[in-house]
Amino acid sequence: MLRNDSNILDGCESASIEFAIDALRRDELVAIPTETVYGLAARASSRTAVKKIFELKGRPPSHPLILHIAKTSDLDKWSLNLPPVAKVLTEKYWPGPLTIVVQRNTNVSDEITGGRDTVAIRCPDHKITTDLLMRLNDAIVAPSANRFGKVSPTSAKHVFADLGRDVEIILDGGECTIGLESTIIDCTTTPPQLLRAGAITVDQIQADCAINVALASGESRASGMLEKHYAPNCKVELCKNRALANSRQLELTQLGVKAEVLDFDVDIELFARHLYSRLRDADTRQIEVIIAVTAPMIGIGLAINERLEKAANSH
Ligand code: AMP
Ligand code: MG
Repeated sequence: MLRNDSNILDGCESASIEFAIDALRRDELVAIPTETVYGLAARASSRTAVKKIFELKGRPPSHPLILHIAKTSDLDKWSLNLPPVAKVLTEKYWPGPLTIVVQRNTNVSDEITGGRDTVAIRCPDHKITTDLLMRLNDAIVAPSANRFGKVSPTSAKHVFADLGRDVEIILDGGECTIGLESTIIDCTTTPPQLLRAGAITVDQIQADCAINVALASGESRASGMLEKHYAPNCKVELCKNRALANSRQLELTQLGVKAEVLDFDVDIELFARHLYSRLRDADTRQIEVIIAVTAPMIGIGLAINERLEKAANSH
């Protein structure tokens, strides 16, 4: 079950999940697969474990964590006065890549929310993590399993490359199918507000549920919205089309700069799934500049471009 003499365990094996649950009950951290990105999980009811996440990631305690639950009916264990909008959204999109921000109840510690009276909650859509949550009989809190500000991991290998043995167990559940962090909707405001773009878009919510979601305004409350985030070591430049990217690459190459074009054309799902691994791969090969052709502004393309802009602003 142990792979490559590391702390990566095959999440498809029941015994691996048992080991992970045992570690979580001992207040240790476990990396878990989800459909968005890999999470660094602590048992939600343990303040000691939750604090370890901030230490290991180097994340400021003011950046709250997302609580992950096994099923929609667990919402009541952690929230208060659920607004009707939250009920509609969770019925429609859970399990799935949507996080809602709602009023918290006393089961949620200040460590999780950075002292806020609201909490972010999601029900992930990944068999291994659902299995783990069902058997753990508690929720977990899990930010992305990388050092603060860096590119999120979309495979167990990425987690190991970032955190190594500092995390007790890494449950391998294969490559993340979506590859970008969840959409976050604040349901405590009227109208509800988009805090972070993801696979589920505001237009889709309007079409599916007839709910009008406002775009984020003012100072952002979501850490993923910081100007500098999702940062690879290489510099990221953005181009509107392939022809511009090619000529920029030529220009840089002539200056002796190792530059590469990142272009997925119109395949935005593939773009989302492979964006982070391609940025990591560029770092491994010591590429100095990635020239990314931005995605069409539809569907998950909006979230891709948001992440690319943050990556481009990081240098
Ligand atoms: P990550 O760092 O990928 O785990 O993202 C977690 C995101 O959820 C961050 O952007 C947080 O700021 C956001 N978040 C968590 N809890 C809250 C909350 N109570 N209100 C607003 N945003 C939140
Ligand atoms: Mg993150």
